[in-house]
Amino acid sequence: MIPASRFIRFFVWQGAIVLACASFQTVIAGPPVALPPLRGLSEVDGKSVVVQGGFWGKRLKTHLDVTIDHSLNELEKDGHIANFDIAAGVAGGECRGHAAFDSDLYKVLEGAMLTLVHGPDPRLATRVESVVDRVLAAQQEDGFLIAFYILKDQHKRWDDMDKHQMYNAGHFFEMAIEHEKLTGNPKVLNAARRFADHIDGIFGPMKRYDVDGHQEVELALIRLYRATGERRYLDLARFFLDERGFLHGAKREPFDPTTEVKGSRPMQQRIARQDHKPIVEQFEAVGHAVRAGYMYAAMVDIVRFMPDAPGYEQALDHLWNDVVERKMYITGGIGTHQYGFEGFGDPYVLSNEGAYCETCAAVAHLLWQYRMNLLKGDAAYIDVLELALLNGVLPGFSIAGNGYFYENRLLKERGQRGPWKGLSCCPTNIARIIPQVGNLAYAVGKDRLLVNLYLGSEATITMESSVGKPHTIHIVQETLYPWDGRVRLVVSPEKTTTFDLQLRVPCWAQGRPVPSDLYSFVNAEVLPIQLTINGTVSAAIPEKDGYLHVVRAWKAGDIVCLEMPMPIQRVHANDKVESDKGKVALMRGPIVYCLEEQDQPGQIVTSLVLPADQPLRSEYRESLLGGVTVVLGEGLASHNKKVPLMAVPYYAWANRENNAMEVWINETPAEVLLKDAP
Ligand SMILES: [Zn+2]
Repeated sequence: MIPASRFIRFFVWQGAIVLACASFQTVIAGPPVALPPLRGLSEVDGKSVVVQGGFWGKRLKTHLDVTIDHSLNELEKDGHIANFDIAAGVAGGECRGHAAFDSDLYKVLEGAMLTLVHGPDPRLATRVESVVDRVLAAQQEDGFLIAFYILKDQHKRWDDMDKHQMYNAGHFFEMAIEHEKLTGNPKVLNAARRFADHIDGIFGPMKRYDVDGHQEVELALIRLYRATGERRYLDLARFFLDERGFLHGAKREPFDPTTEVKGSRPMQQRIARQDHKPIVEQFEAVGHAVRAGYMYAAMVDIVRFMPDAPGYEQALDHLWNDVVERKMYITGGIGTHQYGFEGFGDPYVLSNEGAYCETCAAVAHLLWQYRMNLLKGDAAYIDVLELALLNGVLPGFSIAGNGYFYENRLLKERGQRGPWKGLSCCPTNIARIIPQVGNLAYAVGKDRLLVNLYLGSEATITMESSVGKPHTIHIVQETLYPWDGRVRLVVSPEKTTTFDLQLRVPCWAQGRPVPSDLYSFVNAEVLPIQLTINGTVSAAIPEKDGYLHVVRAWKAGDIVCLEMPMPIQRVHANDKVESDKGKVALMRGPIVYCLEEQDQPGQIVTSLVLPADQPLRSEYRESLLGGVTVVLGEGLASHNKKVPLMAVPYYAWANRENNAMEVWINETPAEVLLKDAP
């Protein structure tokens, strides 16, 4: 347990929300206000939340100091940026890379912009602006902008829709939106509109009926609609979603799956891109997990922004149940090698060494869960989001901020992150998702403020009011979460205001590791949670939606303390998961643990046994792996010899030696399992 005095020993990194960069052009318009949803809750803009101190403060500092520049350097080296210079006719040379090359650059630029929101850095701002200008210089007269096609073959721009053309476009749109938010300068957003208009001129009803091989453009078009107010972009996103499962061509024609040979390459390709049946009939998660996550996220947005979307919500509910009840690893990761690519496998087939759990899939999964929470306001979605963020995204890169995994297996003989990869989808997704952690932490509704993630932060949030003008609430969070379940909040509305402050009580504090029966705690006892408001202890029983609802007249300086006991938990998988039979995983709070061989000297991790009655204790180690809580106990080696055992957070593995690791530890000795086998 970390002593309370540690609360004040924060590593403070607080940047003013000012961009001191002379290179930005004259500010033409104020930051756009995103159109609010028709249904559900609203997002809190990243600018409103300054993450400081604690767990995330360190990661964000590394992001600014190391990750963003490292990523830009690697992209520069690999030719991502030079391609645009050649396309603009200002440099000679050959096109390098693949058709989706541009998207990687856009993701890092987006990440740089999101990072700059939190800390002024004139050098980085100048660098980003210069790259942006080199990109824009290559845009064609008709708005088209994909370096690969401009350089290789303009006539084949839209021939093969498995070349990620619109995936590039989508990431360009998302980057453009962040650029305007950061700088107030609409030049990139205008370029994005020209590209979107170009696509809208080719695809759509009475035009060409087709879809991109890799979903992403759908959610990006919805964001573009919200940033510009241009309704055509929302309609185009809807068109691309509704066109899935159809034949594609000059007119709208149903696709008959019986005309395709089951297991044939065309049918497999359709399944991989969730194009095998109309999306409102898709009740089971299949195919490429990244594409699925982005598509499901866009589907939620359709429900949020279009009053008439029959079948969408029903499909989403089925898909969510299928993933969370049957196809998700304990790390929140999705995708296995079962079908030979980064896709969903069969229900409960969750091999640990055969896990794919691509870092991008965890990002896409998180974006989907985030939107589900905005739509329905249930904390269960944030439970999954938090699991995927801490145990699915974070293992994808090193604590130093410049080493990466593409796949995140739960059992490996060796593991070492690489500095970069030609196929850099995962590193570049990390670049943009980490700086978004602040805005993932909150959501707002009318007279409601939801605290979804606990992290050291200071936020100024605008909340709609049912009686008059919107309220501004200043809220400071202090916590050592995820190492400690205590959170202190200072809530200061502009003037005394009655609203519902919703504090999420994570499923782990309610006796469950996940909001389904796919995994369970061996000891499901729920320890009492304590809520104190201005020194007075009050009832702390979460409602069905997973939140403590504190409705009162809030006044400046009100202090809320939430204390959630954080014991070490043993986790068992559902009996249907063969790969985890006889095994136990360890969790403490939202963190999933693993055994690394170097922490069990002289032992082979896969032969170690952690008996069910073995007491375990936790210990915070400031100097280990950037500051982590470890789990300590005794295990059994061969001949039942007792040996010390130490588990570290799964996300932190492979940051020291190249060694073996496992998440699921033998609980039953192998010989007993053999004896019990039928
Ligand atoms: Zn990836």
